[in-house]
Amino acid sequence: MRQRTYLTPTLRDIPADAEIKSHQLMLRAGFIRQTASGIYSYLPLGKKVLRKVEAIIRDEMDSAGGQEVFLPAIQPAELWEESGRLGDYGPELMRLKDRHGRDFVLGATHEEVITTLVRDEVQTYKKLPINLYQIQTKYRDERRPRFGVLRSREFIMKDAYSFDTSQEGLDKSYQAMYQAYQNIFSRCQLDFRAVEADSGAIGGTDTHEFMVLSDIGEDTIAYSDQSGFAANVEIAPVVCDYIKSDEAIKERELVDTPNTRTIAELSEFLQVKAESTIKSLLFIVNEDPVLVLVRGDHEVNEIKVRNAFNKATVELASPEETAKVLNCETGFIGPVGVSDKVTIIADKAVEAIVNGICGANEKDKHFRNVNPGRDFEVSRFEDLRLIQEGDPSPDGQGTIKFAMGIEVGHVFKLGTKYSEALGAKYLDENGKSQTMIMGCYGIGVTRTIAAIIEQNHDENGIVWPVSVAPFDLHLIAINVKDEDQKKLSEDLYETLVKERFEVLYDDRPERAGVKFKDSDLIGLPVRVAVGKKASEGIVEVKLRKTGEMLEVHVSELVEKLT
Ligand code: ATP
Ligand code: MG
Ligand code: MG
Ligand code: MG
Repeated sequence: MRQRTYLTPTLRDIPADAEIKSHQLMLRAGFIRQTASGIYSYLPLGKKVLRKVEAIIRDEMDSAGGQEVFLPAIQPAELWEESGRLGDYGPELMRLKDRHGRDFVLGATHEEVITTLVRDEVQTYKKLPINLYQIQTKYRDERRPRFGVLRSREFIMKDAYSFDTSQEGLDKSYQAMYQAYQNIFSRCQLDFRAVEADSGAIGGTDTHEFMVLSDIGEDTIAYSDQSGFAANVEIAPVVCDYIKSDEAIKERELVDTPNTRTIAELSEFLQVKAESTIKSLLFIVNEDPVLVLVRGDHEVNEIKVRNAFNKATVELASPEETAKVLNCETGFIGPVGVSDKVTIIADKAVEAIVNGICGANEKDKHFRNVNPGRDFEVSRFEDLRLIQEGDPSPDGQGTIKFAMGIEVGHVFKLGTKYSEALGAKYLDENGKSQTMIMGCYGIGVTRTIAAIIEQNHDENGIVWPVSVAPFDLHLIAINVKDEDQKKLSEDLYETLVKERFEVLYDDRPERAGVKFKDSDLIGLPVRVAVGKKASEGIVEVKLRKTGEMLEVHVSELVEKLT
C-alpha cells in the first residue's frame, strides 16, 4: 500500500480528551476517529487490524466447531419482552421506533434472536449440540463511554451461543469455548488471565471473564500467586466510598431518627440505577472467602451472598439468614463499618440505607446489631474485611495478589434461562419434549485491539505483535527525490508484495524525521529504510520491538525477513 494516498492522518500532539495510551495512540497513528461520543470510525489501518483480530477469532471458533451466522442488529422489542429483559436491561439498551410506531431495540447482545432462531429451526436431539457465532456491531448506551474503543457505545463483538441436550454437553461446549478463548488471546500476544466472575444481566451460573492485565483496567482481580485461583473482585467503589464518606458517618450517628429514602433515590445516589452492573465485595469471614453481590441492574433489587469455595448462592431474606451464611453469631446487616476496614453491603443493607440509616428495615424499626461499638464488639469485625494482598488464597495454595484487568472476553453457562422463556425445545430419543441448555460466549473485538495496544507500546508509539499488525513491514523511501533511493524502493516494494508480504510503502515527499516518527507511531514490526546506501543495494532493517538495527543487502532481504 502506498502511503502517499493512504488515509492515515497522524497527529503529533496528544488529543485533549484521550486519557489512556491506547486511545491516544489509535487517534495519533490514524487508526480511528470519533464520530460522536462513544461512536468511532475505523480508518484503513484500524480496519486492517480489525480484520486480523477477526481472522484469529474466526479461525479458533471454526476449529472449535462454531458455525458463523449473521444476525440483525435491529431487533423487535417484543422479543426482549418475551425473555423478560426489556425492563431489566435499562437505558443501556438503545430503543427506536419504525415508521409504523413499532418498537425495536438495537442489539446489545443476541440471546433473544438466536434462541428464537434455533427454536424455530431445530426440533430434534439429532441436530444437537450446535454452536453458532457471529462477529457483529453491538449497541450499548453506556453511562460513561470512555477510553476510546475500550468502552464505546457502538462496538464490535464476537458472540457465540451453544445449545446442548444435557448439562455434561454444556460443560463440554463451555470448555471448548474456554480453550478457544485461551488460544485467541494467546495468539493476540496478550498477557491475560481467566477469572471467576459474576454473570450480570445476562444471567446464568458458571462464568469466567478473560482479563487482560493492565493498570487502566476497570476490574480488580484477586488471584493466587501459586495456583490457578483468580476472581473478579467487583468492588463497589461507589458504595464503599459512600460508607467511608463523612455523610455516611454522620447518618450512622443518626441511627435513632430514621428518615425515609426511596429505592429510586438510593439508586440515584449510589449511581447504580440501570447501570447493569453487579457490585460485589470479596472478603474473608472466619477464614472463608465470601462474595457479597449487590445487583444493580435496573434498581438495587437483589443481593446475594455466596461462598467463594462452593459457589453456593444464597438469596438472603433476613439478618439471621445472613448471619448463618456468613457463619457469624450475630445478624449484622447493613453498611456496617469499622473505620475503613469493614465494608459489607448485605441483604437489607440497601433497604437500610433507603430507610435512612443503617439499621432500619422498616419504617421506625431497626436491625439488631448494626451499630459497631454499640451493638458489636469491634473485634468481631476484625475478621471481616476486604480480601487483601497477602491473604491466603481460597484454594489454600499461595497468597492473594491484586491486579487490574480489562475484560476482553466472557463465557457463561446460561442453562435454560432463555430457552425456557422463549420456548426453545427439542424432542429427545424417547420423543419427549425437552428444553435446550445454553451457553453464551462474548469477545469484545474492538476492545481487544485497545487492550493489545495498552500492553504493546512505548514512548514513540504502538508496537504491534506480528499476528495482528496491520502490515508486516514499513518500507520507507527516505528521500524520494533521490533517483537511486526512489528506484530501489519501487523495486523492493514490487518484490516484497510479490513475495506476499503486506507492505506499507512510505513514498511520501516528506522529511526523513517525519517518516521515521510516523513509522514508530504506527508501529509495524519491521521497518525497511532505503537511504544513502541505495546505490550499493544496501538497506537498513529495524525491528520495532527491540530497536535492533542491521544493514542488509537487498539480495538477502527476503530471506532475512522470513
Ligand atoms: P463491562 O463489564 O466492561 O461493561 P460487560 O460485562 O457488560 O462489559 P459482556 O456483556 O460480557 O460485557 O459482553 C462481552 C464482551 O463485550 C465484554 O467482555 C467486552 O469485551 C465487550 N464489551 C462490552 N461492553 C463494551 C463496550 N461498551 N465497548 C467495547 N466493548 C465492550
Ligand atoms: Mg457492561
Ligand atoms: Mg463485565
Ligand atoms: Mg461481561
